[in-house]
Amino acid sequence: MSYLTHLECSLTGQIYDADQLIRLSDAGQPLLARYDLDKARAELDRDEIMRRPASMWRFQEMLPVRDPQYITTLGEGGKPVLKLNQLGQKLGLNQLYLKDEGQNPTGSFKALGLAAAVSRARELGVTEFVIPTAGNAGSALAAYAARSNTVAHVYMPQDAPLINLTEVQMTGADLQLVNGLINDAGRQAAADAAEGGWFDVSTLKEPYRIEGKKIMGYELAAAFAWELPDVIIYPTGGGTGLIGMWKAFDEMESLGWIGSKRPRMVAVQSDGCAPVVKAFHDGAEATEAWENAATLAGGLRVPVAIGGRLMLTALRDSDGTAVAVSDNRILAAQQLLARQEGIFVSLEAAATIAAVEELAAQNWIQPDEKTLVFNTGSGLKYRLLLT
Ligand SMILES: *Cc1c(COP(=O)(O)O)cnc(C)c1O
Repeated sequence: MSYLTHLECSLTGQIYDADQLIRLSDAGQPLLARYDLDKARAELDRDEIMRRPASMWRFQEMLPVRDPQYITTLGEGGKPVLKLNQLGQKLGLNQLYLKDEGQNPTGSFKALGLAAAVSRARELGVTEFVIPTAGNAGSALAAYAARSNTVAHVYMPQDAPLINLTEVQMTGADLQLVNGLINDAGRQAAADAAEGGWFDVSTLKEPYRIEGKKIMGYELAAAFAWELPDVIIYPTGGGTGLIGMWKAFDEMESLGWIGSKRPRMVAVQSDGCAPVVKAFHDGAEATEAWENAATLAGGLRVPVAIGGRLMLTALRDSDGTAVAVSDNRILAAQQLLARQEGIFVSLEAAATIAAVEELAAQNWIQPDEKTLVFNTGSGLKYRLLLT
C-alpha cells in the first residue's frame, strides 16, 4: 500500500530510515517523507483513487502507514470545495471558492494531521503521546488517541477556548493548562515527554502530521479537475497546511497528475502575531519570535514556528504574498461570510476572508482568477464574539 521510502531533512537533504521512530533531523529541522514516485506514477490512477470512498485514506499509497490495520480514522478528509457566489459578487471576484475543513472530526483540519501522525506512530510502537497546542490540535490528538486506545497528554494555554478543554477532558486525556502561549506549553510538554518517554507530536517536530494535511492539496486539485486555482489563501500558524499543500503539488506533478502551474500562495496572520508576514516583507530567510503575541484567533497565535523557512520558500517560489489583518477585521469578516453564504467559520479562517477583501481591492487578485480560501475550523468551536 504505502509507497513511503525514506525521510529527508528539509534543510540539508540528509536521508533517514522511515521505519524508525524519529522526530527532527540532526540539523534540528523538520523531516519530510519521501515516496517511490516512479512506481506510484506507473501504478496509481488518479481517477480510480477519486472513485474510492471520500476519505483522506483514499490516498493511502501517498500516506506513510504501511499496514492498514494501524489506520485510525474518524472520517477525516473528503470535505467539499464550495463556490462563494454572493460573497464573490460583493468583492468583485467571479470565481471565489472555499474548502471547508471545518466539517472534519473535532471540527478542524487538525484531524487530518493527527490521524496520520497517530496512525503511523502506532505502527512504529508508540502508545503514549504528548502535544502542546493552541486548542484544536489537542482536541484532535485526544480523539485519535481515544479511538486507537493510546494515551494523550495535552498541554494548552489556560485561556484556550473552553470547547477545546471540554473536548480533551471528555476523552479522558490528561489535560495540562499552561500559564503562557503555545511555545510555553511546548517547553513544558517537551520536558515531561522526556521524563515519561512519551512521543511528542508538536507541529513539524515529527514527520507525519504534514502528510495528513498535504491531502488537502490532493483534494483541491481533484475538485478543480486537476488544474490548480490561481490563488490560495491560507490562515497560517505553525504552517503545516501551507507547507503540506506545497509538497503535495510537487508530488502530484511527479505523478503526472498536474502540470507545472502553481497557485500564488498567500499566508494570512493576525497583526497581533505576524512573524511570517514580517519575515516575508523583510526579505528574511527564516521567521523570528514575535513578542507579546495576542490575537483572538488562537490557531494563529504561534510566535515561534520551526517551519518558517519552508513557509517563506512556498510563498516566494509561488509569487505569493503574506498579509496581516486586525482582529476587528477578522470578526467583521466572520460575520460577513456567514451572512453572505451561511458558512460559520473559525476566526482563523475568517482572517482569509478579510485578506481576500484586501487583495481584491488592491487588484492583487483579478476578477476572473480562481481564488480558494480555506476554512480550517468550524465557528461552532468558539464563544460568540459578535461586534
Ligand atoms: C492550527 C490552526 C490553524 C493554523 O494552522 P497551521 O497549518 O498550523 O498553520 C489555522 N486555523 C485553525 C482553525 C487551526 O486550528
